[in-house]
Amino acid sequence: MGKINGATLMARSLKQQGVEYMFGVVGFPVGPIAEAAQAAGIKYYGMRNEQSASYAAQAVGYLTGRPGACLVVSGPGVVHGLAGLANAQQNCWPMILIGGASAVHQNGMGAFQEERQVLITTPFCKFSHAVEHTHRIPFYVEMAVRTSIYGRPGACYLDMPDDIILGEVDEEKVHPAARVADPPRMIAPETEIERALNVLESAQRPLVIVGKGMAWSRAEDEVRAFIERTQVPFLASPMGKGVMDDNHPLSVGAARSHALQEADVIYLLGARLNWIMHFGKPPRFNKDVRIVQLDIAAEAISQNVPAEVALVGDGKAIVGQLNKGLERRQWFYPKDTPWRSAIAAKAEANAKQIAPQAADDTAPMNYYRAFKDISAILPENAVIIGEGANTMDIGRTQMPNKNPRLRLDAGSYGTMGIGMGFVIAAAAVHPDRPIVSVSGDAAIGFSGMEIETACRYGMPVKIIVLNNGGIGSGIAELPRDRLTIPPRVMSIGSGYEKLMEAFGGRGWYVEDPKDLRKALNELMAHDGPGLVNVKLAPTAGRKPQQFGWHTS
Ligand code: ADP
Ligand code: MG
Repeated sequence: MGKINGATLMARSLKQQGVEYMFGVVGFPVGPIAEAAQAAGIKYYGMRNEQSASYAAQAVGYLTGRPGACLVVSGPGVVHGLAGLANAQQNCWPMILIGGASAVHQNGMGAFQEERQVLITTPFCKFSHAVEHTHRIPFYVEMAVRTSIYGRPGACYLDMPDDIILGEVDEEKVHPAARVADPPRMIAPETEIERALNVLESAQRPLVIVGKGMAWSRAEDEVRAFIERTQVPFLASPMGKGVMDDNHPLSVGAARSHALQEADVIYLLGARLNWIMHFGKPPRFNKDVRIVQLDIAAEAISQNVPAEVALVGDGKAIVGQLNKGLERRQWFYPKDTPWRSAIAAKAEANAKQIAPQAADDTAPMNYYRAFKDISAILPENAVIIGEGANTMDIGRTQMPNKNPRLRLDAGSYGTMGIGMGFVIAAAAVHPDRPIVSVSGDAAIGFSGMEIETACRYGMPVKIIVLNNGGIGSGIAELPRDRLTIPPRVMSIGSGYEKLMEAFGGRGWYVEDPKDLRKALNELMAHDGPGLVNVKLAPTAGRKPQQFGWHTS
C-alpha cells in the first residue's frame, strides 16, 4: 500500500460519507482539498465569498438529506463562514464547514491568518473539532456527518491545519470509518398517539401547523394523508410551504391571523413557536390553545407554550403512526363547521383587499402588480428562492408551492444575503428544475457577485429583482447633500440586470408594468442565466399587517 495525504483522505472520506457537494473559496492552506475533492468525484463550486459558500452548503443539506461541505481558508475565511454556521443552526439544517488553519507547530506565534477557529465556531455548531492527526480524518468526517443529520440537524466544523492537509500517512495506518446510515426514524409511544388523537377529537377549531421539520423528514405523503383523512385546516410555515399544496382548499394561508387567533387545538408538526409564530402567545394566539407538539428534539417540547401531548421523534414516522391510529377511529372533522366557513370568508376578504393593487397598472408598479405576473409565469416544479423584506414576505403569499423543499428564504434567522448561495445550491442539486429567485434590491446586494459563479457554471438560473431602491422602501430623489440620504435608501433605478450581462447572462430592465410579462416570458424561455430588474415605486410596501409573519 502507498501513502496518502490529508487532502486526499479528507476528500475520499467525504465522498464515502455521501457528501456530494462542496462550495468554497480556495487559498492557503485548503487548495489541495478542493482539488482532491474534484478528483474524488465531489462536485466542487468555487464561490466569490465564504458567506455564500456556507449558505449553499446548508441548502444542499436540506435539499438532499446529506450535509453539503463548505471549504474556507484560515482566519478571515472561517470568520466569513460563521454566517452560514449561525444560519444553519437556527434553521436546523446540516452542513460541514472545513476551515484551513495555520500549521500546528506555529500555534500562538502569530502565524498567517491564525485564529482560534474551534473556539469561535463552537457556539454555532453541534460539533466542532480540530483534526490533529492525518490518519484520523475519516473518524472526524464520520463524526461530523453523523452529528449534522442525526437528531435535530445542524452544522459541524472541522479545523484542518496546513501540516495535517499536507501530511502523508501509510494507507494501512488510516483509521477507517463506517458509512453513516440515514437518520433513524424514532416513533412515539402508542399511548401518546392515542392521547394526541383524543385531543384532536375534542377540538372545536383545530389547526395543523406544518413546519420545515416535516419537509426535512420527507413526511409529505404522511402529512397529506393526515390532512385528507381528518379534513383539518392547516397553515404552512414559511419553508414548510409545499409539504401540503399551498392551493389546497384546507390551507389557511390567506387567513393566517384569524386561524392562529381562534384555533383551540394546534398540532405543531416540525415547527417552533418562535418569533415567526408570534411565540404562540396572545393576542396572536388563543390564550387557552392546547398544543400537540411533534418534534425530533425533546428539549424543544413546550418552548413558550406548554404542550399537552408531546410526540418526540421523527416526523414521517410519527405522522404515519397518527394515520394508523385514525384507521381505528370513526371520527371525522365535520365539513360544514363555522370554523371552516369563517376561515374561508376571511381568506376571501383578504383576496378582495389585494385585488385592486394587483390590477393597478401605474408605473412604477407596486409589489402585488409585480407578483401577479411573476406567479403567472412560475413553473410548478420551480425551486423558488426569496429574500428581502417586503419582497420575501409578500412573495411568500403570492407565489404558491405545490411540492415540498421548493421554497428557500431567509428562514428562522432572518438572514439577508442567503439568496445567491441558495440559488447556486438549488441549481447544483436540481439541474432538471427551473430555479427562480425573487429578491429585493437591498437583498441582492449582499451576494450579487455570485451571479458570476452562476454564469461560470452555466447555471440557467432566473433572477428577478424587485427594485424599490432601498431597504423596505426607497426615495423619489436623492437629496443634494449626500450625507442626509436616509440610512435605508439606495441608488435609484440601479441597473442590476447589467451585473448579469457583465458575466455573460441576459438582462432586462422593466419600468412599465405592461412590459413585465413579456420580459418574464423571455427570461424563462432564455436557455442561460438571466436577470429581470423591475423598478417598483419607491414607497411600494405591503398592505397593513394581514399576511405577514412579523411580530409587529
Ligand atoms: P419552521 O421555521 O418551518 O417553523 P423550525 O425550524 O422553527 O421550522 O422548526 C423545525 C423543527 O423541526 C425543529 O424544532 C426541529 O427540531 C424539528 N425537526 C427536525 N427534524 C425533524 C424530524 N425528522 N422529525 C420531526 N421534527 C424534526
Ligand atoms: Mg428594496
